[in-house]
Amino acid sequence: MIKYLSLIALILLTACSSSAEKKQQQSDAATQAQAEIKVPVYAWLGGPGKATDEEIRDNFTDLKNKGIIGLLYNGGHDPETYKRVGGIAHEVGLEFQTWIPSMIQGENPKLPPDLYADNGLGESAWDKPAYAAYYKFLCPSREEVYNFLEELYVQIASLEEVDGIHLDYIRFPDVILARGLWDKYGLVMDREYPQYDYCYCDHCVEEFHEQSGIDIRSVEDPSQVEEWKQYRYDLITGIVNRLSESVHARGKKISAAVFPGPNSVAKKIVRQEWDKWNLDAFFPMNYNDFYLEDTHWIGEVTLEGVTALDHRKPLYSGLFICPNPETKSQQADPENHGLLPEELEDAIRESMENGAKGICLFTPGRMTAAHWEVLKKAIRKDYTL
Ligand SMILES: [Zn+2]
Repeated sequence: MIKYLSLIALILLTACSSSAEKKQQQSDAATQAQAEIKVPVYAWLGGPGKATDEEIRDNFTDLKNKGIIGLLYNGGHDPETYKRVGGIAHEVGLEFQTWIPSMIQGENPKLPPDLYADNGLGESAWDKPAYAAYYKFLCPSREEVYNFLEELYVQIASLEEVDGIHLDYIRFPDVILARGLWDKYGLVMDREYPQYDYCYCDHCVEEFHEQSGIDIRSVEDPSQVEEWKQYRYDLITGIVNRLSESVHARGKKISAAVFPGPNSVAKKIVRQEWDKWNLDAFFPMNYNDFYLEDTHWIGEVTLEGVTALDHRKPLYSGLFICPNPETKSQQADPENHGLLPEELEDAIRESMENGAKGICLFTPGRMTAAHWEVLKKAIRKDYTL
């Protein structure tokens, strides 16, 4: 009998140790696979919807295994959401920055309608937004707007589960749309038109008049007034740099999604002079299809960005992924365009060879199995020239 029991014990012991060994081997292989990664990959991701903790954990583990190191996560304004989801991201070993739009804000009891921006025709983005119903942009010169944003971001930055704040829509409405969007909106944007040009509210007009002596409402073509351009770049830069101080004071990082450039696109179409922003990292949305450009252009705008930043801070090249590669050519809406699997490696190479610190995917949910296959190899290559 004793012999029999010890035999069972021996079998159990062997089973345990072999399963432990197997687990160790798996974890060693995962560590080895992670160690081979040479391109840091972030991802823009929204949620959580109705997902359970377990579903979120499974998804994050999967992303981590595919090479993603950090999330820029959009989950609304409620700090509790970021506490919960950020906690899971940390368990899995992912960096967690909260991706929250700034100048675009929907209806909110804290934001009276007079805080929204006015266009050159005097129409408010509150009740007559340009392009789309959600284009409700706030006026960047109003102190109440700044205070609203600071309260929102600082409350979330104070959470232990949050590593940083990721700003988005930190800009004016597009005074010129990206070339690839003209057909979608039936527009020819060969110059700045007043209905898309902001902000001409009393506060902005008066403050600019005090600073420059120019009454911008009496100018026939405001697009020719350099001081007026600079005034508006400075309004956004001022908000970013004040937020940066407040977020840094909580010991957290701050970064932003920006338009490509800054000179070739961002300043011209959305008035972002982002090379003057005190951020820890920059994520230009190098979405070539929106500009009817190819992957070579991704390299050009990456180089422009890192040069403008003078390599002071890391730049992660934002890549727009095509969700349905087989039907891309039949899709009229550029939102359904993006990089095909066969273009992805080139987009990564162009970014890295031109000075990007890494890349950022818009979005992991749009990646097909073929995209992941390409990514897996491409992020393990060495692009140092
Ligand atoms: Zn204004």
